[in-house]
Amino acid sequence: MLISGKEYVERLSGYEREIYVRGERVEDFVNHPNIKPVVNSIAMTYDLAKKRDGYSPYSELVGERVNRLNFVNKTPEDLIARFDYQRELSMRLATCNYRCTGSDAINSLFPATKELDERLGTNYHERFLLLLKEIQKKDYACTAALTDTKGDRAKRPKEARDMYVHVVEKREDGIVVSGAKIHQSGAFAADVNFILPTQTFKEGEEEFAIAFAAKPEDEGIKFVLQNTGYQAKFREGGEFETGNPLYGDRITCTVIFDNVFIPWERVFVFEDLKAIRNILTNFAISHRCVGGACKAGFVDSMTGAANLMLKANGLEKVPALRQRVGEMVGVSEAAYAISIGAATKGYESYGTWLPNPLMANSGKVIGVEGFNKVIMNLAEIAGGIPVTAPSEFDLKSPEVGKYVEKYLQASPNFSTEERMKIIKFIEFWITSSHLLGAIHGGGSPAAAIIFLQMLADLKAKEDAVKDAIGLKKD
Ligand SMILES: Cc1cc2nc3c(=O)[nH]c(=O)nc-3n(C[C@H](O)[C@H](O)[C@H](O)COP(=O)(O)OP(=O)(O)OC[C@H]3O[C@@H](n4cnc5c(N)ncnc54)[C@H](O)[C@@H]3O)c2cc1C
Repeated sequence: MLISGKEYVERLSGYEREIYVRGERVEDFVNHPNIKPVVNSIAMTYDLAKKRDGYSPYSELVGERVNRLNFVNKTPEDLIARFDYQRELSMRLATCNYRCTGSDAINSLFPATKELDERLGTNYHERFLLLLKEIQKKDYACTAALTDTKGDRAKRPKEARDMYVHVVEKREDGIVVSGAKIHQSGAFAADVNFILPTQTFKEGEEEFAIAFAAKPEDEGIKFVLQNTGYQAKFREGGEFETGNPLYGDRITCTVIFDNVFIPWERVFVFEDLKAIRNILTNFAISHRCVGGACKAGFVDSMTGAANLMLKANGLEKVPALRQRVGEMVGVSEAAYAISIGAATKGYESYGTWLPNPLMANSGKVIGVEGFNKVIMNLAEIAGGIPVTAPSEFDLKSPEVGKYVEKYLQASPNFSTEERMKIIKFIEFWITSSHLLGAIHGGGSPAAAIIFLQMLADLKAKEDAVKDAIGLKKD
């Protein structure tokens, strides 16, 4: 089934959830100024899926069209369609679509649970399919929580048990889990949170090797939202002062599991080290790969803002600045091309099409470098004003409004208010959580580089050089 954004919001309004913002429990969470932008963003994923056929494929599992982000990819074309959907979402929202990690979890758990059952004769895959059918039929929004708080990173999980989500009780009808996940994008506004481990484990650490699905209203789950200066700005209100008033920046939360009961039907891996390794490998390549297309969409948004700023300042004919816009276009297309290449050169794993691991990880590395460059270009084009401008409230003030109106006017083709909207949008891009999100979301560049070192056929490269310069081969 495909529901509309409005239907998603109505369903969300019916849930009881324990959500905290700035130390206070939120009652009408859907309309809270720090949560509403996330709800608006997720609503857009629903409305856009209804407009484009490629974003709502036919699922044989349920015999109807479903959201592309709840679909199990079978071919390179499936992955490419997902990338196009996410690039468009990133460009239109200028923020996270929040359902991306759910898609990665679905496409990681599908093959991993199948492998697990073939190896051990268990029925985890069947359980997973039951939930997946419900997700597809009800058009649920799903997220995935991997990152544990970890505590002292020098310790193994057993020495810092509470810092990793772990089983505290095994019952006949399910398990009880405790711990916390940090940095979780939009988890409080989803229907289903997939909970996967943050890392692989060694023998003896099986109690942490679990994967399951939580529902945000499960008893004992508490969401504590991030609180940057940007969130404070949202609470302050205004029509355009926040820069991206409808969709905001990337809003995350800490998810606390205080003795949460999870029925066996929602447990997909229980104390199996290999299955967890498979899930994490699948997830990492899936998420890093789509990150290229997602960053392309973000860069598209920043490119649009840069070009508007040039015009609003009357600088659109300056070759040195126009060249910066050209570079931004190049970064966007390169990031997108890596995703497309990885999809095309991907591989089949237990009924799922996964991207090429080397290319997916290089997408992360190049994407982050490109993102940095683009923020630099945007800052260069915009001048200092995104971090020095008066506010929307000054523009509307009876005392100083006329001065702001006069002195912030530039090109006659843009009113002061229009120019200030562009300035605030650029302030949002340069100073919000986006840069750190691009760097660390989906795993830090260091993690991708470790994969690249492991996966690259360095010997073949060495041998080619040896052939070329006449060195003896081993
Ligand atoms: C905006 C944003 C949104 C996010 N959304 C989600 C989400 O929805 N779901 C989710 O599960 N996670 C999410 N993350 C978390 C993200 O995956 C982590 O930030 C990332 O994995 C790094 O973990 P950390 O921040 O805890 O870094 P830390 O563990 O605190 O490490 C700090 C730095 O040291 C490096 N480092 C640590 N140990 C080693 C080592 N042994 N070798 C080499 N380098 C090391 C890390 O790579 C990192 O660069 C999000 C992060 C951000 C910033």
